[in-house]
Amino acid sequence: MALIVHKYGGTSVGSPERIKNVAKRVAKARAEGHDIVVVVSAMSGETNRLVALAHEMQEHPDPRELDVVLSTGEQVTIGLLAMALKDICVDAKSYTGWQVALKTDTSHTKARIESIDDEKMRADLAEGKVVIVAGFQGISSEGDISTLGRGGSDTSAVALAAALKADECQIYTDVDGVYTTDPRVVPEARRMDTVTFEEMIELASLGSKVLQIRSVEFAGKYKVRLRVLSSLQDGGNGTLITFEEDDNMERAAVTGIAFDKNQARINVRGVPDKPGVAYQILGAVADANIEVDMIIQNVGSEGTTDFSFTVPRGEYKQTIEILTKLQDSIGAAAIDGDDTVCKVSAVGLGMRSHVGVAAKIFRTLAEEGINIQMISTSEIKVSVLIDEKYMELATRVLHKAFDLG
Ligand code: ASP
Ligand code: MG
Repeated sequence: MALIVHKYGGTSVGSPERIKNVAKRVAKARAEGHDIVVVVSAMSGETNRLVALAHEMQEHPDPRELDVVLSTGEQVTIGLLAMALKDICVDAKSYTGWQVALKTDTSHTKARIESIDDEKMRADLAEGKVVIVAGFQGISSEGDISTLGRGGSDTSAVALAAALKADECQIYTDVDGVYTTDPRVVPEARRMDTVTFEEMIELASLGSKVLQIRSVEFAGKYKVRLRVLSSLQDGGNGTLITFEEDDNMERAAVTGIAFDKNQARINVRGVPDKPGVAYQILGAVADANIEVDMIIQNVGSEGTTDFSFTVPRGEYKQTIEILTKLQDSIGAAAIDGDDTVCKVSAVGLGMRSHVGVAAKIFRTLAEEGINIQMISTSEIKVSVLIDEKYMELATRVLHKAFDLG
């Protein structure tokens, strides 16, 4: 008998029928003798609806109040799932984040988990109950409802699994595992039986939507055994996220291709080529809490240089505004940019031991006439920024070039 945490995302609980299916799946695992804790998201579309409602009240909704509103989506699904289980004679009990208590810091809408009290859950499990916990939410150190950032139910599930020292955390979603790339773009994409944490973190941060990145980091830190499975079909082992040290497989140079349209490029042209300029530009952007990703600064000529970087597309306008205000003090000749770009990345632990991966990527893209605007690399990934109209083509040809099909 094992203790297993199941997590079901919005699509998996998107209708009364689907909630009943989840109940059946949970009942089956319970009947096999396992202790089950279930974490659920809001019904699909619900969190977006709540965000939109909040924006009708206030242009920039008050973060504390926004969390009060956003957390309601999950409260509905935990109650409904408990009812669905009781209806098929499985004893179950639902908890909101604060009831558990899942304690967080006070950064509303992107709170970080600080501790989890497992006492109530353990008592219920000992009585044979299925415990259902609302994902995505907690209670702040000031006693207010907090949420963990979009997609945060994955992190709730992994954190609960860590706190309960669960044998496995199973993330049930609308795909049956982690693929070499998005199968909607490349039909030949292949499900991976295993992928390492390091690769999964890169894939998650580079645009793969399968798992929220913080949940993967959390699982890596607390050594939670994490598996991605389909909630819509039966059978299959999904994809197990492995620890590199437990995995002595010979690795291919590249194991997955990720892409991300949530990108915009900013160019600050003709700035003085002297110490402090990068700080002046990026410091102002960081002060506005805007995340900067790729950065390049050209070699200066005649005392000036061009500086470019990328930000999330939704923050493109704001970034341009901030820098335009600073243009005179920075001494920039012009500020412009492009929000029709995307980032395509190749990821693989094997890159550490294979040479020529970057060159192969550049050759493959050149053969298709795709211009590379920016490049960034780490030990296990190579990313390129390109025109978004080539996103699917680039993904397809790279997937093929590295024999991932
Ligand atoms: N309901 C939240 C969202 O849509 C959390 C989640 O689904 O993981 O972002
Ligand atoms: Mg999700």
